Amino acid sequence: TTLLPNWLKRCAENTPRQVAVSTREVSWTFADLDQQASELAQQFATLGIQEGSRVGVLASNGLPFIACVHALMRLGAILVPLNVRLTLDEQLWLLQDVRAMALITDEHYTIRADEITHHSPALTRGTAVWDASSDRVRLQGVAMSPTAPLRAEIDLSAIQSIMYTSGTTGMPKGVMVTYGMQWWNALGSALNLGHQPEDCWLLCMPLFHIGGLSILIKNVIYGIRIAVYEKFDAQVINQALREQQVTIISVVTVMLQRMLAALDAEQGDGRYPTWLRCVLLGGGPAPRTLLEDCARRAVPVVQSYGLTESCSQAVTLSPRDALRKLGSAGRPLLPVQLRIMHEDVVAQPNQAGVICLKGPSITGGYDHRPEATASTIQDGWLATGDIGYVDEEGYLYVLDRRSDLIISGGENVYPAEIEAALLSHPEVIEAGVCGEADAQWGQVPIAFVHLQAGSALTMEALLEYVSTRLARFKQPRRIYLVAELPRNSSGKLLRRELNKLLPAAST
Ligand code: AMP
Ligand code: MG
Repeated sequence: TTLLPNWLKRCAENTPRQVAVSTREVSWTFADLDQQASELAQQFATLGIQEGSRVGVLASNGLPFIACVHALMRLGAILVPLNVRLTLDEQLWLLQDVRAMALITDEHYTIRADEITHHSPALTRGTAVWDASSDRVRLQGVAMSPTAPLRAEIDLSAIQSIMYTSGTTGMPKGVMVTYGMQWWNALGSALNLGHQPEDCWLLCMPLFHIGGLSILIKNVIYGIRIAVYEKFDAQVINQALREQQVTIISVVTVMLQRMLAALDAEQGDGRYPTWLRCVLLGGGPAPRTLLEDCARRAVPVVQSYGLTESCSQAVTLSPRDALRKLGSAGRPLLPVQLRIMHEDVVAQPNQAGVICLKGPSITGGYDHRPEATASTIQDGWLATGDIGYVDEEGYLYVLDRRSDLIISGGENVYPAEIEAALLSHPEVIEAGVCGEADAQWGQVPIAFVHLQAGSALTMEALLEYVSTRLARFKQPRRIYLVAELPRNSSGKLLRRELNKLLPAAST
């Protein structure tokens, strides 16, 4: 195993007075952040959190979440961030699946925490709140353990977090994210984008997704400033890019589209300040019109391809190549190897197949799911399930998402999860879900169901039924009643054919 000095601690030693994190309320230096991490870690220790403990964190983007991430690192405990948009049932399932011993929330999620601990009384609970007078995040009503064993080192092979991502075939799986993956991802990104000590990275993506979390880690590996925003508001973000001297921002397509629309509404020159040197665009395909618009305005868009399993970006396209290689996701970062597999052999240039990734920034597998791990990773190569090809110059083109995955406003929506919720209704015999193009969200899920003979269930009632079981962004926009669903010869649902049912179906 390779041991490194704790990244944050080292930043606090090297550049104690440099600003590390700025939010609307505060600016914390690296010394502040470091002290915060050890104080909160000492409170965590009082709750019994220790090395290897799995700790659910349910919080909005803000100081409590940030403090929790670093405090857990001090103890060698494992962060399990919860998507705040999930329903109570989904969060309960996830906490049980990961075997969490504690749940930490911020003050926005105390009611949900009550509900969760009502059903899972064994969970230790803590509420992390930023206190204005001390300018620190504290666990309410918990003393510090001054003797808690805080770690000055980071073991690259240890698990930093477990991030849940849904599978096409069933329930979500926990991706094991090690410190080593974070380290190599941060290094690979810096070798590509360049490292500048004056950089400021704007964080407006959810911290419970890898795209947001990995910025917190880059913050302390690079020793740069991050500007953290709780919510995405295009006007606020545009203003922040100017006022906070932001040099890098990570976004998904829908965010960038809204930012550019807001920029036009400002009636300025429709451009961003020249110090903005990188708009890292990922999470899904980028429409050509958006890229052309960015080129016109000289917005330095760096397209990227990656997934939770690759600890965020694995392949990126530099602005220099953006128009020459329009539609490409670019070339792999240095630590990453990329190849396309077509029917079990490595594909020729321009031949489509499954995108496979290998390297120290790629996950070793899913938490306690040996079968899923074995079927996804072979000889160190992770089969992403996404379809694409590589051209003669080694540029990746992503053709199709992992089969059937719907991406709605940057959130992954897995048809299997929605179908399972529909099928849990006693009168639903068959259910199929697919994506429908939507101008605002990119895609939204729609559903097709076949009901028990004689059932009088209305689609309104069925929508109501699933609304308590599925987060809002997973709820079908519409449900259609059909006589039968398209299936292949072995009875597997053909989700790609669902759209063909549309004219005949009734809502
Ligand atoms: P997640 O595991 O939630 O991070 O989602 C990752 C998925 O987003 C990938 O498996 C792809 O299906 C999709 N994705 C990410 N980047 C791109 C891209 N540049 N083009 C197309 N799809 C993408
Ligand atoms: Mg995923």
